[in-house]
Amino acid sequence: MKIKIGVIGTGYVGLVTAVCLAELGHQVVGTDVVKEKIDFALAGRPHIYEPGLEELLQKNLKRGNLNFYHDLDKTIQDSDVLFVCVSTPQLADGRADMTYVEGVSRRIADNLNSYKLIVEKSTVPVRTSAWIKRVINLYRKNAENYDVASNPEFLREGSAVHDFLNPDRIIIGVESEKAEKILCQIYQKFADKILVTNIDTAELIKHASNSFLAMKISFINLISELCEKTEADVELVARGMGLDPRIGPQFLKAGVGYGGSCFPKDVRALIHIGEEMGVDFSLLKEVDKINTRRIYIFVNKVKQVLWVLREKKIAVLGLSFKPQTDDIRNAPSIEVIRELKKEGAYLRLYDPQAIANMKKIFPEQEPDLVYCPSAYEALEGANAGLIITEWPEFQNLDLRKVETIMSNPILIDGRNIFEPAEVRKMGFEYYSIGRK
Ligand code: NAD
Repeated sequence: MKIKIGVIGTGYVGLVTAVCLAELGHQVVGTDVVKEKIDFALAGRPHIYEPGLEELLQKNLKRGNLNFYHDLDKTIQDSDVLFVCVSTPQLADGRADMTYVEGVSRRIADNLNSYKLIVEKSTVPVRTSAWIKRVINLYRKNAENYDVASNPEFLREGSAVHDFLNPDRIIIGVESEKAEKILCQIYQKFADKILVTNIDTAELIKHASNSFLAMKISFINLISELCEKTEADVELVARGMGLDPRIGPQFLKAGVGYGGSCFPKDVRALIHIGEEMGVDFSLLKEVDKINTRRIYIFVNKVKQVLWVLREKKIAVLGLSFKPQTDDIRNAPSIEVIRELKKEGAYLRLYDPQAIANMKKIFPEQEPDLVYCPSAYEALEGANAGLIITEWPEFQNLDLRKVETIMSNPILIDGRNIFEPAEVRKMGFEYYSIGRK
């Protein structure tokens, strides 16, 4: 018999989870409190930009093994397994806000009409499963059985579908054989990638992984600061370090810092979990501090190159927190824009996917802040061009054309996408991160 899966919360993680579990052949229904997200999904149109998602959404809707409900209660009642994919955003003090997870747990308690396996897919603090169980036990109306399990998600926005269907690892945190059996059946196709642990371990694997990756980024960014004071080249330092298999080359890319909906909040959440449990995570406080500093170092560089920013036309290329996504949550571009606006610069912004989202934070306002339909239009007449996100199309810009259309051919590259010698040969003044 097919396992009936309900996915609660169809945001970046939930929608991909619902579509990909259906693609694996399961019977899946997704639900969300935001009605439009469900309307869009039912129409075969994801409300987010994620490569490959639309095709698989339409394919599985047509196949009949994927559906979306507006009704959370019905989703819970009709499902055997519930993947909880709601947001766990950051509170002002850095803790994870568990309001949505608690809310969903209460609704599950209200609708416990048969055995349910409740799977935490959202990133949650270690010990969350104990709280979910407490809530369900407090509010349940009948004695039906249930299990809680942790199955943290490791997909990366921009390659989420590929990541979900080609996992490095599937972490399954369980405390009953039944829960283990069901989750192993769901992920049968990836049997050789499964690591079964207890629930606390699984919850902690996710926070530990993200904090470790953030630490790698802040580490190389700190090294880049030293490179800028010397003749060292951070790209070559990173390459040299990465050749050591104990270190590896990934996440050693110096730049304007990490952003997104995960690293900043997960680092801060782990600091807080440590504080609550009496473990000193000063190490991660430094990681966070170094990352915040990146923005101001970058903006200072812009000031040092352009001197007065008032009424200077500055093209900002890349608004999303990383390439191949429209997600701007905690994107470094936001703070860069805020700082440049304070200085009175005329900003000309461009991104291949994230303009609509950015307009909600910074509405268009001539001549201070204008959104452009292409990188060339942003750069036309500009006194400087800033690269904030390493979208491939920026690497492929026709730099000869760019050099002729800019007022001053000055590029300040926050992602080291160009070769300094090459762009300088074309007539640009070029500044990048951690190299001359
Ligand atoms: P998101 O904000 O895009 O999605 C969360 C969704 O949950 C939203 O659509 C929201 O409307 C919905 N929701 C909230 N309360 C609900 C309720 N009571 N019932 C139904 N739906 C509800 O967030 P996201 O990026 O998908 O992240 C979700 C979780 O996954 C977070 O814990 C995040 O840390 C984690 N995570 C995210 C990523 C990523 O790359 N975005 C990767 C791995 C893990």
